[in-house]
This record gives sequence, C-alpha cells and structure tokens, in this order.
Amino acid sequence: MTAMKPFEIARETLKQLTLQKLAPTPLNYQRLYNSIAELPNEPAFPAERLRDIALALPTKTPGQQKQRGLLESAINQLNWEGVKNALMAYGGFSPPAVAPSAPVAVLAPTPPPAVAPDSVTQALNPTAPALTAEFFAQIARMIEYVQPALGQDDEHFKTQTQTLLSTLRQPDTDAIEAKKLLQNYSNRLSFAAEDQAEIKTMLLKLLHLIIENISHLSLDDGWLKGQVDALMAVCVPPITLRRLDDVEQRLKDVIHKQTEAKTQAVKAQEDMRQMLAAFIERLASMTETTSGFHAQMESSAKLIEQAKSIADIAPVLKDVVGATRHMAQDSLTARDALQGMKKKVEATEAELSKLHQELDRVSAQARHDPLTGALNRQGLDEAINREVSKVRRMDTPLCVSLLDIDNFKKLNDTLGHATGDVALTHLANVTREVMRPQDTLARYGGEEFVILLPDTPIDKGIEAMQRLQRELTKKFFMAGTEKVLITFSAGVAQLQADEAGAQAIKRADQAMYLAKRAGKNRVLGA
Ligand code: GH3
Ligand code: MG
Ligand code: MG
Repeated sequence: MTAMKPFEIARETLKQLTLQKLAPTPLNYQRLYNSIAELPNEPAFPAERLRDIALALPTKTPGQQKQRGLLESAINQLNWEGVKNALMAYGGFSPPAVAPSAPVAVLAPTPPPAVAPDSVTQALNPTAPALTAEFFAQIARMIEYVQPALGQDDEHFKTQTQTLLSTLRQPDTDAIEAKKLLQNYSNRLSFAAEDQAEIKTMLLKLLHLIIENISHLSLDDGWLKGQVDALMAVCVPPITLRRLDDVEQRLKDVIHKQTEAKTQAVKAQEDMRQMLAAFIERLASMTETTSGFHAQMESSAKLIEQAKSIADIAPVLKDVVGATRHMAQDSLTARDALQGMKKKVEATEAELSKLHQELDRVSAQARHDPLTGALNRQGLDEAINREVSKVRRMDTPLCVSLLDIDNFKKLNDTLGHATGDVALTHLANVTREVMRPQDTLARYGGEEFVILLPDTPIDKGIEAMQRLQRELTKKFFMAGTEKVLITFSAGVAQLQADEAGAQAIKRADQAMYLAKRAGKNRVLGA
C-alpha cells in the first residue's frame, strides 16, 4: 500500500482525471483512487443494495433472525466474505472451509476483523447438525416401518438393514458412509419389493385354485355355485384389507355349509349301508327257513304216503303243523323287520331332504346375494355396523347411498325376467368397477342397492354416485341382439352424530324417492 495520505490520494486522483480527460464519474474516480492508493481495483461495495436484499429476507424463525443480523453486520463492515457466509448459512449450506483471509477494503481505510469460518458456520446455522441427525433418525424410522412388509427370510438383507439402522442412529453419523449404505439398501430393497409383489400374485393364484377345487369337491354344487362364483369375482387385484375380509367371510360361509353337508351325508350313507346289510341278512335267513320248510314238507309227504293208519299220520301231521307255525312265525318276524326297516329308510330320506332344505336356508342366510355377489341384508347389517363404529372411533365422514333402478318392471315385462336378472348383475359389476375398493355394495331389495362410502363427506358422496350414473349410461349390455341401457335414481345421506346406520339408510331412501318424483335418473342429497 502507498505511504500517501488519503487527502493526497484524493487530490492526485482529481488531477489524473483531468490529465487523462476522463469523465468525472464515481466509477472512474474510484478506479483511479484505487490505483493511486495501490489498492486492488474492486468495484464499490453495494452496501445499500445489499441492505435492501437483507431487508427482503424473512425472519420468521430465531435462526433466520440471527442470520439476518449477521448479514447486516457483514454489510456494515463491507465484508464480502461475511456476506457470502451469512447468505450460504441462510440457504442451509455450510460455507467452504477456506483459510481466513483479510477482507478486501474498498474505500475503507480500516479492514473489519476476519471471522474464523468454523465459528461462522456454527453461529450462522446452529441447527444444521441437529437437523441432519433428525433427518437420519426419520429415515431409520421409515426403514423400520417398511421392514415387516418385506418379509424376514433374507438373512443378508436383515443384517444389512441392521447395520444401516445403527449407522443412521449414531449421534455423529458420517453422511458419506450413510449415503453408501442407503444406496446398497435401496438396491436390495427394490429386489425384496419385487419378490413381495410376486408372492402376492402367487398367493392370489393359489387362492383361486383352492376355490375352484372347493366347487369341484362339492357334493351338491347347486347351492354352492353362486357363492363360489362371487368368491372368485372378489379375489382379484388390487388386494385391499377390506377385500380380504370379504373373501374370508365368504370362504367361512362356504366351508361351514360344506362341512355340515358332508357330515350329515356321511351319516346318512352309513345308516343306509347298515340297513341294507340287515335286509340282506334277513332275506338269507328267510330263504333258509323256507328251504327247511320245503324239506320238512317233502319228508312229511313221503311219510304220509307210506302211512298205513291214521295213527301213523298223527305224529307226521303234528310235525307239519309245527313246521308251518314256525314258518308263519318266521315270516311274521321277517315282515315286521322289513316294515321297521322301511320306516327307517323313510325317516332317513326325510332327514336328508330336511338337510337340503336347511342348506338352502343357510345359503339364503349367507352374507351375499347369489345373483349379484353383492352383500345381502344380513351382510349389509354387519358391514354398516363395522363402518359406523369406525366413524365413532376415528371421526371420519361416512355416506350411505340408496339407489333404485328406473322402470325396472317395464324392462322385466318387455325383455323378460332373465334379462332383468342380467341387468341386476350388470349394475353390480359396473358399480364394483367404478367405486373405490373400500366402498361396499349391498342388495337392499329387488332392484334396490345400498352403497356404503367410507371417508366421504356428503358432497363427495353425491359426486361419486353421479360418476356411477354417468358410467352406467356409457356401458350398455346385450339382451340377444338388443342393447340395453339402465338408469337409476339415488339418494345420499351422510351419517350424523349419534345416528344409527338404518336411520341414515332411511334418509337416503327418502331422498331417492324425491329423485324419482323429480323425474328419475338423478342423485339427490338427503
Ligand atoms: P321405478 O322407476 O319407480 O323404480 O319403477 P320400477 O318399475 O323400477 O319399480 P317397481 O317397484 O314397480 O318394480 C320393481 C320390479 O322389480 C318388480 C319386480 O318384479 C322386479 N324384481 C324384483 N326382484 C327382481 C329380481 O331378482 N329379478 C328380476 N328380473 N326382477 C326383479
Ligand atoms: Mg323399487
Ligand atoms: Mg325401480
């Protein structure tokens, strides 16, 4: 630096401006001043501009307030390095660890004291290490949550996960090391996730196989077919807990009925077998008695032929009478036994037919409607109770919708009852396609259905039903060569505090009735 005094430098600067015929602008003045003063030729420190920037920065958190204070003091000291560090810390970055250098003074006779970069980092961003630790802890928690879904079979993966978790939970985790471990973990994770998806698909296939087998094994699959078909339709992806619950309930129904039928049929079969054995035994002994009787009669006849006097015949006659009485008695016993057996057979037959009736009744009492696969009234009662108690527990909105097909009687009358049945199945299928997996469809009556819409407030419930209405108008079905389109009218009610499920259905029913009155093919809120 020159030994000239500041006023001497200033005078010399003005002189040089004139000599060099330079325009007297602040920039030219400063450049000349710096060159005479032997200072680096830096542009002026834009303190005012920087202050504007500092003022525009938010100071919502104590950390931000502190950092802005440090930025302002760096500006006041015309300290570029301080400004840079403050802005980096403000943006969440650590300033580079450079050797402390004296800040450049521009038009500033006394340079500000240099601040060590480490202490700057600490002071500007005191929360950074804590944030990093929290971030790693959060990743560790996430890994732990995800772990059960990935199975426990792969020992290597288990060890890898444990190492990663303990590294992430160390108080002074090395970020580079953690990153490396995380990268390896995520590679392995992608394989494990693929495996789990594959396992899920395979399980579903197995489930299909089992259900198919149940229907083949069934003793009388007339009453079982509807249930098995519905079961098949339900266990398709995407698998949700609600679907699995549905599958479980249906399987229980089917297994219950099948076990009952099998036990009873096996017992009836055994009874029949025993009766048949007794019958054959009896027949054999009857033949024996009869042939004994014939032999006796033949020898008696011979004795009678050879008899010379009545006295000779008397004992023979006595034998004949005895044998005949014996024979008659045996026949009587045999007749009684056969009649007894006949009664038993009739009783067993009656029992079997009662069993069939009982099976039909149980089938009707199952939770699903065999035609559409939707829940029946009993299934609906159970489902709505479950949903209502969830609403009370978790305070989520539940919508209940009741829909009734428009002019269904006319459809039955013009196209036949069988086509009416197809229409009901079609409506159920489209509903299952359009509504979310967590929504529940139940057949409420002939052509009336109830849909439960969990986690849904009234406006969204109405929207969902209108969406179903639009989809149904897009999707016709065929009755022979004829395209058939069906529409419905529906009411939607949101379950109110302390309201019973049945009451909400009643309100939805009233709204549905109003929708019919208003011209059908529409959805109204209750
Ligand atoms: P609206 O538009 O006012 O609802 O008139 P609608 O004709 O649909 O209503 P209505 O109640 O007069 O007729 C319902 C018909 O549904 C009468 C009944 O025979 C028929 N139905 C009920 N259950 C079944 C079923 O399982 N299969 C068939 N094919 N028809 C059914
Ligand atoms: Mg009706
Ligand atoms: Mg109707």
